Amino acid sequence: MKCRKCGEKAVVNLREHRLSLCKGCYIPWFVDYTEKTIKKFRMIDRGDRVLVAVSGGKDSLALWDVLNELGYETFGLYIHLGIDYDGYSDVSLQKSKQFAERIGKKLVVVDVEKEVGAGIPELRGITRRPVCSVCGMTKRYYMNRIAMELGASVLATGHNLDDEVSQLLGNILNWNIDYLIQQSPVLPAREEGLKKKVKPFCYFTEKQTLLYTVLRNIDYVEMECPFSVGATSIFNKDILNQLEHRSPGIKRRFYDGFLNNKHVFLKDVVDEIGLRNCSNCGMPTVNEVCSFCKTKERVRSVVQ
Ligand SMILES: [Zn+2]
Ligand SMILES: [Zn+2]
Repeated sequence: MKCRKCGEKAVVNLREHRLSLCKGCYIPWFVDYTEKTIKKFRMIDRGDRVLVAVSGGKDSLALWDVLNELGYETFGLYIHLGIDYDGYSDVSLQKSKQFAERIGKKLVVVDVEKEVGAGIPELRGITRRPVCSVCGMTKRYYMNRIAMELGASVLATGHNLDDEVSQLLGNILNWNIDYLIQQSPVLPAREEGLKKKVKPFCYFTEKQTLLYTVLRNIDYVEMECPFSVGATSIFNKDILNQLEHRSPGIKRRFYDGFLNNKHVFLKDVVDEIGLRNCSNCGMPTVNEVCSFCKTKERVRSVVQ
């Protein structure tokens, strides 16, 4: 198998793009393709200040690296979730810090245990909500809040095509219309204080982001979040990979088909959700007090 660009020995065959590439050609292809995706969805403009949410994992660090290579103004945000299992949160923080130093960019660290009075594992017991839902809520809250405090205009996350299609499949199987409306590689800013959110890696598979990370010698946390073990999203990814193996490109077609046709089958649903500002912290919410402040209040009443 030879590289289609230069004829050297190829390291990867991108079946869905009908493209074989060598190591030297893969990295620039990956960076260019990210830029094409950014332009296609008008994700980031020159002059934007981009807050990159990093977890210490391959996708978010690779994203920060590529945005930096493309010359965008970036800084990172690491949210320490207080997950002790095998030092998960501490190790992830260390890898994120190392990477920030490598590219010479600022990394903001939020410690959930200090801020809320309890880490994610304890919050599960206190709120009696599924752990991934509390964790997601907490992360969204801080991403938005830090972006506001630091004057960032765009929030970027490392979600890849596998994340997107497994979420899409899950939402369709359960017909979660509210979530389907919200699922997009780019969500515009809202006046009430929601920042623009973008996913520049939405067209790369997990294998492709991994290959980039490895070829660029980026040191990342290989450990998955201990709470994700056995999660439905992982099972769905597996099924989608089986489909992809049989029909190369099916994940991409599934995703693009959804984005292109979303308006048709969600036509009658009102997509403007009424937002107001939390009476306690001022962040946008659909209720009088936001779910984050409610959670915090709950922790206070339990801990005291
Ligand atoms: Zn080549
Ligand atoms: Zn609030």
